[in-house]
Amino acid sequence: HNSYRIVMIGAGGVGKSSLTVRFVVGRFVEKYDPTIEDAYRIQMSIDGEVANLDIVDTAGPEEYSALRDQYIKLAAGFIVVYSVTSAHSCQAAAKLRDVILKIKGLSVEDGSCYDYPIILVGNKCDLASERTVTFEEGQAIANRCSHFTKNFFEVSARTDTNVSEIFCEMVRQIDTV
Ligand code: GDP
Ligand code: MG
Repeated sequence: HNSYRIVMIGAGGVGKSSLTVRFVVGRFVEKYDPTIEDAYRIQMSIDGEVANLDIVDTAGPEEYSALRDQYIKLAAGFIVVYSVTSAHSCQAAAKLRDVILKIKGLSVEDGSCYDYPIILVGNKCDLASERTVTFEEGQAIANRCSHFTKNFFEVSARTDTNVSEIFCEMVRQIDTV
């Protein structure tokens, strides 16, 4: 009870570890070993209630390597990350989201995916001059499979923009399921 298993997933280099460490430790770590897969437990107060978050920061050379059965089965919600500086990572995020839905037995066809807690996150929004994915493109991908109002955030682990917001919203969405 009041325990939330959340999985960070996305292509390599998009900032999954940076976002997790920013949220859990409150710092921006410039270089984080890309091969390290780690789990963090953090307690937070949200809407006047204590929530225990178990956050799995996945890692792997391939986009799908992180999709191990136990993560998918145990997870209550997913934060699917891409970088706004990489259109490829955005496509990878959309594919990963589809894989998660498939494994969870959710689909657009019967509408079962729309209230499932998956938040799409475009990281590195501080890199304005390197941006190749627009806000609207990200929002459109999120809307395809989610009816939550806050199903998409642009964030920056570096400038600490919208980072705690995604975890708070994740907890709120899990609570509605
Ligand atoms: P992961 O492979 O998805 O875990 O990505 P990392 O968290 O290891 O980050 C990959 C690289 O992107 C590192 O060099 C980070 O310093 C950098 N990075 C991560 N988040 C941000 C961000 O919000 N802004 C900028 N400018 N760089 C970031
Ligand atoms: Mg990492």
